[in-house]
Amino acid sequence: MNEERKCRGLSLISGGLDSQLAVKVLEDAGAEMEGVCFATPFFSPDAARKAASALGIKLHVIDFTDDEIALVENPPHGFGGAMNPCIDCHATMIRRAGELMEKLGFDFVATGEVMGQRPMSQNKQSLGVVEKSSGLKGRLVRPLSAKLLEPTIPETEGLIDREKLLDISGRRRERQIELAAKYGIVDYPSPAGGCKLTEEGFGRKLKDLRDHEGLRDRRLVELLSVARRFRLPDGAGLILGRDKQENAVLKEAAAGGVGTLLAPVNCPGPSAILTGEASKDDFETSLCLIAAYSRCDRLDGDVKIAINGNAEGAIAVPRPYCRDRFKEYQIC
Ligand code: SF4
Repeated sequence: MNEERKCRGLSLISGGLDSQLAVKVLEDAGAEMEGVCFATPFFSPDAARKAASALGIKLHVIDFTDDEIALVENPPHGFGGAMNPCIDCHATMIRRAGELMEKLGFDFVATGEVMGQRPMSQNKQSLGVVEKSSGLKGRLVRPLSAKLLEPTIPETEGLIDREKLLDISGRRRERQIELAAKYGIVDYPSPAGGCKLTEEGFGRKLKDLRDHEGLRDRRLVELLSVARRFRLPDGAGLILGRDKQENAVLKEAAAGGVGTLLAPVNCPGPSAILTGEASKDDFETSLCLIAAYSRCDRLDGDVKIAINGNAEGAIAVPRPYCRDRFKEYQIC
């Protein structure tokens, strides 16, 4: 091994066990490690921050929203089980990490990928696709499965000790659990958790937004994490708050220019944002839908719904409406 200088690696940190082990194994193999993680409205960097802090390494956070949206719109290698473009997402993250590597003078990028762990995105072929499309050929180290893969440049140059790298493969987790005990890693989320793009319900909302308003307005993308969604017959969208907190989020978004705010003023009920060019019919359907979700049992008369907070001009909507009537419009 080359003793003249300590080589520097930049490791993708998700917060999960494998990404933490990758750092530990590479440190044992002689590298000085820092971490990089990604932030989007679909996954938070919080777990990565916690892991980096426990590992005692510096963490770089990259805003990945525009990249992820472009991939959701057009994933060259398709989606996984939901709206998760995992192969392309992973390759793009590695490409972005590679750009940071160049900029900050690191020797290589590392990941905690394990060959064969995920049938779609971590088989030998997918690992090859990811490496090729990331543009990092020879500079992408997967320390947990390195001995099953071609030696990388830092290994052949003796910057890291290949003998200290591992040969883990498959979906069983025993070796990772043993290594976690060895390195004293106790805090890590489940391997699959954390990314909303893998959730079926979230995927339905995202697809609906992509196919109607589109994904260019980040504010609408950020709202995907809250509230019920309806797509009305003429194409307008309705985002309906489920509790006080979500109502407040919707009010704030509308104040910032997102859609038209609709909310009952004479009984408790949901705030809602109407998006897109609403036809007269869609507008009226929205009012009825909000009335159906309002708690108007003790109300003597119509539900009054204000547009953009204008209580004086509130529109009277007869009641009651059965919620079931609107089920066919509900996305999630
Ligand atoms: S689970 Fe989410 S963050 Fe991870 S690779 Fe897939 S799409 Fe990207």
